[in-house]
Amino acid sequence: MSHRVTLIPGDGIGPELAEAARRVLDATGVPLEWEVVDAGEAVMAQFGTPLPDHVLESIKRNGVALKGPITTPVGAGFRSVNVTLRQALGLYANVRPVRSIPGVESRYEDVDLVIVRENTEDLYAGIEHMVGRDAAESIKIITREASERIARYAFEYAVANGRRKVTAVHKANIMKLSDGLFLESCRTIAAGYEGRIEFEDRIVDNMCMQLVQKPELYDVLVLPNLYGDIVSDLAAGLVGGLGVAPGANIGTEAAVFEPVHGSAPKYAGQDRANPTALILSGALMLRHMGELEAAQRVESALRAVIAEGRMLTQDLGGTAGTSGFADAIVARLGGTPAVAPA
Ligand code: NAD
Repeated sequence: MSHRVTLIPGDGIGPELAEAARRVLDATGVPLEWEVVDAGEAVMAQFGTPLPDHVLESIKRNGVALKGPITTPVGAGFRSVNVTLRQALGLYANVRPVRSIPGVESRYEDVDLVIVRENTEDLYAGIEHMVGRDAAESIKIITREASERIARYAFEYAVANGRRKVTAVHKANIMKLSDGLFLESCRTIAAGYEGRIEFEDRIVDNMCMQLVQKPELYDVLVLPNLYGDIVSDLAAGLVGGLGVAPGANIGTEAAVFEPVHGSAPKYAGQDRANPTALILSGALMLRHMGELEAAQRVESALRAVIAEGRMLTQDLGGTAGTSGFADAIVARLGGTPAVAPA
């Protein structure tokens, strides 16, 4: 049976990365039927919104989407498509596995973390206003329901994936009510896993220092939205940067897979961005759809190409283009490259 998947190429480097990822995933032989829909800057003029209804409908209908990055204007302009999408589809868990890749230069060799970020509330609820002309207020929303739901997801993920420990990250020493409630919710859920999954908590600033010094001490991290956003970029830096960090947004009705990085407009259309993060996001998607063996093959082929070191993109110190790198992976998977490798 074929899987129908929504593909949102996105802005900036998104379309070329999406094309690379699509070719790699097709090369697994898993029958994928791609429904390509556009969102972001490119459709603003046509639809008057960066997230037209038919895009949401497509994801709801198919239940899974692979998404390239979408530009969000800073300070003014339209609201983040990414945040709107996550809220509209109830994609409450943002899961970002952070794993060292042999051949990708970084300060550490054996990082293996999973960041589980609450995806629907906190300061991303988008409730902010001016107070007079010279002050602005953003409201941080933390609820017991969303905090317990994300903590439960983190523990269930740990059980299902043979992980040993969950660390809750917060700033409850200062935000005693909001972060206090998040921590209390994590403790409540942790009690149900006692003896099976270890639990501890860390204050977010200390967590950042610990991750930079001793990332091997950590396993699954569960965080409210804002700290999760920041700590996942920090963690991506531990394994070679944004070009290699995949992600998944999971809800009860739908799941959207996307890289941690943004649209890197300065590299758009130059065939130089690294498609690894989007390809690995595609592997997470295959796993989510039950195509475990194909997901494993994509990850192994990608790791083999990087370990070999001949076809590396510029961010990894090589000279290969986006499409050439994808071709090398396609060839490893037994497919026919679009362009013969140099
Ligand atoms: P960015 O991730 O786009 O780029 C930061 C830098 O990281 C780039 O200049 C580049 O040097 C490097 N980089 C990122 N991805 C790379 C890749 N695949 N290959 C090689 N190098 C890569 O972050 P930014 O510049 O802060 O944001 C640009 C735009 O993207 C903004 O509008 C932002 O809102 C948006 N954004 C979107 C998402 C999303 O769609 N989920 C996520 C983050 C940022």
